[in-house]
Amino acid sequence: MAPVGAREQDNHYKVGARRHEEQRTKALEDLQRDYVAASAKGPSASLLKTWERMRTRMLGSTVPVFPLTPDKMTKVAAAFKALGYRSYANYLAKAKETHISMYGTWGPELSLEARLTTRSMTRGIGPVTQRMPLDIEKIIALQKTDPLGPNPVVEDGPCGAHNLAVIGVFFMLREAEASMLLYGNVMIDTHGQMVTLKLPSSKTDPAAAAVDRSWGCVCATHQKEGCPYHTAINQKENLLRIQRPLEP
Ligand SMILES: [Zn+2]
Repeated sequence: MAPVGAREQDNHYKVGARRHEEQRTKALEDLQRDYVAASAKGPSASLLKTWERMRTRMLGSTVPVFPLTPDKMTKVAAAFKALGYRSYANYLAKAKETHISMYGTWGPELSLEARLTTRSMTRGIGPVTQRMPLDIEKIIALQKTDPLGPNPVVEDGPCGAHNLAVIGVFFMLREAEASMLLYGNVMIDTHGQMVTLKLPSSKTDPAAAAVDRSWGCVCATHQKEGCPYHTAINQKENLLRIQRPLEP
């Protein structure tokens, strides 16, 4: 039988060892928690959620998302493609990171499948419609030969499409800003040949305090069809013609 003193000493070591173990675990947790910035945790989780949803679409919810296999990846990728997702690579990167953190490896068969599915994603999906460049010179040329006129080009479209394009380009307006612009927010200074737009100061809040932005007439160096001042005048005339003045 060991003397009491030795047993106490043994316990003492055990307590110490446990405390060290706890400290090591906490240190690791602290480190891992900050792998991802707090601000990125939301988006990061939502990437995985979307991946999970695609898994459910193609494989049902009972097939676990991880470990990833080439077959699972192919099917999930097919769902992304069918729904027209362009940023599949983003979702895949998150799934890969998660897979590696769980299983420690990313084999060549997964690498190959990742490459193939990513490549397929960008084919046959068509151009990014919202980011097509607007060739203002072509619109100006069109206006010279075959004026668009004040009426909407498409049903429920804006009136004076050409004016909208020119003003939009000169003042770098976003769609929401252009569509919120009222008759009274466009001020014409005929003496100084200037047009001034009252625009919301915040890009995300159309009701925010207004700031003034001005452009002068550029007809001296440009064509009249591409002049912000003259198109603004024309657009105000269009509006009066279409909607009639409010006062008799
Ligand atoms: Zn002008």
